[in-house]
This record gives sequence, C-alpha cells and structure tokens, in this order.
Amino acid sequence: MAKSVRKKIAKELRQQLKLPKNSETTIFVAISGGKDSAVLLESLVDLVGDRPDVTIIAGTVDEGIEGYRPPSLICAQELCDTLGVEFITVSYPELSFKEMDEVVERIPALVKEGKNAPRMPCSYCGVFRRQGINHLAQKVNADFIALGHNLDDMAQTVLMNMTNGDLERTLRLAPHTTTPVDGLAPRIVPLRWIPEQEVHLYALHKNLPIHHEECPHAKGALRWRHREMVATMEEDVPGTRHGLLRMADNIKVLRDQVIDLGGFEARPDPPTLCPNCGQITSGNQCKACDLRALMSD
Ligand code: SF4
Repeated sequence: MAKSVRKKIAKELRQQLKLPKNSETTIFVAISGGKDSAVLLESLVDLVGDRPDVTIIAGTVDEGIEGYRPPSLICAQELCDTLGVEFITVSYPELSFKEMDEVVERIPALVKEGKNAPRMPCSYCGVFRRQGINHLAQKVNADFIALGHNLDDMAQTVLMNMTNGDLERTLRLAPHTTTPVDGLAPRIVPLRWIPEQEVHLYALHKNLPIHHEECPHAKGALRWRHREMVATMEEDVPGTRHGLLRMADNIKVLRDQVIDLGGFEARPDPPTLCPNCGQITSGNQCKACDLRALMSD
C-alpha cells in the first residue's frame, strides 16, 4: 500500500510541480499537524527535498482554537524537526483577525444584531486561514504553495461548488500549475487522488507525528454535510469521488480548448487588489476585511 501511495504522489507531483531550469524554487507547504499535510510534507521531502535548487518550508496558521490548535502545533513542529524542515507560524491576531474562540463567542450576538453576519465559524475561519496561508507563502517568497487535500476533500469541494452553481470556483480549483491565478503562487495538491483512508494508513505506517482530533467546529460546517453525502455515494457507487474530480478536470480542459480555438475569454477575470489590505480579491474590499470590520464594531 505504501509503495502505491508513494507512486501516485510522485506521478501527480511530476504533473503539477514544473520546476524551472537554472533557477531556485521555494515550496511553501501548509501543514496543520494532521495526517494529510504530514504525508504531503514527508513525501515532498523524500521526492524533491534533496535537490539543491529546491527549498521546502512548512508553516501553520494558528486560528486560536483552544484544545485543538495547541496540540496540533506541537505535532507540526515535531514533524518539521524530524524532517529537517524550517517551520513558521502566524496567528490570527498577528493578521489583525480575532482568535476563533472569540469569534465563536460573538457570533450569536452579531447574528441577533442583524448585521448580516455568517452563522458558522468556518465561514470566518476559512477566509482568515486563506489569508494566513498567503501571508506565510509571501513571507518566504514561495513559488508554489503545497496543500494536503486528499481525494475525499477534493470530491467534497467539487460537489459543494456544483450545488452552489459556482463555475468560477470550479475553474479556480487547485492545481494551478497550468493556469496560475494571477498574483498568487500556484497551489499544488499532490495527494488529490489518494483516498483519505489510504493517507491515514500511510501516515501510521510511516509513524508520522499526527494530531488525530477534528476541529470542534467542523461538524457544524456545510462541508460536513457534503462529506457525509460523498461518503454515502462512494459506498453505494464506488468511484464517485474519482468521477467528481474528473468532472472538474474535464471542465478545465473544455475551458482551455475554447481558449485555444480563439473562442471567448473563458478564464475568470483577473482578480483586483483589496484597497484596504492589498490582498487579491474578486470584488472591491475583500471578504477578510469585511469580516474583520464586522468583528471590530
Ligand atoms: S473546521 Fe472550520 S473553524 Fe475549524 S479550523 Fe477548519 S475552517 Fe476553522
């Protein structure tokens, strides 16, 4: 099993990670202390870590969730120490966001005040964390951002985008190697064809230091519903996860064919910069700044 997992990761990495000749490449690996990103980092170190033209740096965003984040940070640090990888972190307060424990405490009052505030913790945290990952990647001048999404995660995301009718997000789905999203280091997802269970077994087989707990807020998230849906579908119709992911890939291929044929410009509009924080946004002020302002009222 371990050999087959490693083979699949190596194959996917060859397709996604296009290393330039005659220049150095920095890969920022977003790790959480969990199994997926641990397997990702271990595999990257094993597959390209010896190359003199490649630097691998790992980092974690500390959301400020007591009981969950501190022990997983210890695992992340331990993993990096074992693999000899530099480890960096950033916390929400360092990015001028409130810690998630405070956000969660304040959500009911914000909703009651009718401020159009999201009800789910992940609606805040997902936005803040994306900014955190971008921040860490920019800090180390990363050429690539590697994320540990496995097959189950990817299938859930495709289904969520579909049920939301969100074609643009489907087109922006990582990997970005062949279609970089302007202004951001391309995101690569070398585990995207590996089922979650295999990733877990691989992590145990390699004896990687991993934190096993889920975030206490995960169960309330919309993604959890999609997780259950995909798992049920996969049990009834094996291959569902692969099918969802293939469909997203096929949509991107179709988009590229239309462009190659000189058809309309099917790529999403290049994102603009938030006038407030300078981060990439598809609208005016970015979502992170909207939520930051909401919390500071
Ligand atoms: S489950 Fe939600 S609240 Fe918890 S870390 Fe993930 S995005 Fe943040």
